Amino acid sequence: MISPWSPTKEQLVELMGDQPRYRADQIWRGLYEQGRPPSELPNIPKKLKTALSTELTPSLLLKAKQENNDTVKWLWQLPDDEQIETVLMHYPKRSTVCVSSQAGCAMGCGFCATGQAGYDRNLTVGEIVEQLVVAREAAKPRRLSNVVFMGMGEPFANYPNVMATIDRLLTDFQIGARHITVSTIGLVPQMLMFAEERLQVGLAVSLHAANNDLRTELVPVNKRHPIEDIVAASQLFRERTGRRVSFEWAMIDGTNDSLNDAAELVKVAKKARAHVNLIPLNPTPGWPTKGSSKGRINAFVQHLHDAGVQATVRSNRGTDIDAACGQLRASQQSVPVTLSPSSPKSQ
Ligand code: SAH
Ligand code: SF4
Repeated sequence: MISPWSPTKEQLVELMGDQPRYRADQIWRGLYEQGRPPSELPNIPKKLKTALSTELTPSLLLKAKQENNDTVKWLWQLPDDEQIETVLMHYPKRSTVCVSSQAGCAMGCGFCATGQAGYDRNLTVGEIVEQLVVAREAAKPRRLSNVVFMGMGEPFANYPNVMATIDRLLTDFQIGARHITVSTIGLVPQMLMFAEERLQVGLAVSLHAANNDLRTELVPVNKRHPIEDIVAASQLFRERTGRRVSFEWAMIDGTNDSLNDAAELVKVAKKARAHVNLIPLNPTPGWPTKGSSKGRINAFVQHLHDAGVQATVRSNRGTDIDAACGQLRASQQSVPVTLSPSSPKSQ
């Protein structure tokens, strides 16, 4: 059984055998314009619906949902009982969804709730696209304007399915490339491939440290893909797309938030011609160190600005509803799960 949002249009046509082409078009419009699976579409013969439904069944089952004024967070259960999260954030001028690309993550970054829990598997195209369908529905009457691949998992470790999802976003959701951002821990071979795609899709690299000793401690995969290689790949991305990468930097108290750390970052960011996005560290159950204080963050950002490096501080949006990578799942494992009475309509 696969998600109706997994196949490409051509695969759907093939899957429908000798049905007339307009039926596939009808179902495709249902999936992407109305966000509905074939079983919920009017004007499709019952026999065809039944036949399709045995092959094409939505994957996301609602396990828990948390909401405040401007943020919605879903915890989904997949057919094999894996759990993933999706977060929708409303800002004055945009609505952004943060999607998961894997169940768990194999990269093992100690400060990250997803990394602490280990790796389960890659998500299918349908499992990623369904997150977008639900978020677009939930955003109404606002328009879902931005998509970030910053949920659970390492998107570049699931490269083909993430690229297929981006293709769907560009063509079927009509979200502009500049409104999409992929965040990677720095898988250099895929960064190079991504640069060669020559898309206008944004690329964020989670740097967190600008010397290899500290970075390897925080981000074990740095042993395989050290900072010099990330800088070279960032330069190539800039050449191929005309866009700067942005370096993500979780501010960890007493670990990577001194002025010396800022000075190291200035050198690397200038070489890579990157801008910098600082994120105050969110506390997670398995990591003892807390986020940096406001004072230290301000001093750090000031140092970057004075040295001519563009930097912004990301708000800790949704901390009160565990809206940081892997955290809803982590907290749901230690408290009883509130089962929602039904799944959303768009499933
Ligand atoms: N695997 C990808 C994308 C998912 S993580 C990556 O690492 O880039 C998205 C962002 O959240 C990354 O920049 C990651 O470093 C950051 N992050 C992970 N755990 C965090 C935490 N506890 N507090 C703040 N940011 C965190
Ligand atoms: Fe994986 Fe990103 Fe978390 Fe590292 S920070 S463990 S790469 S999800």
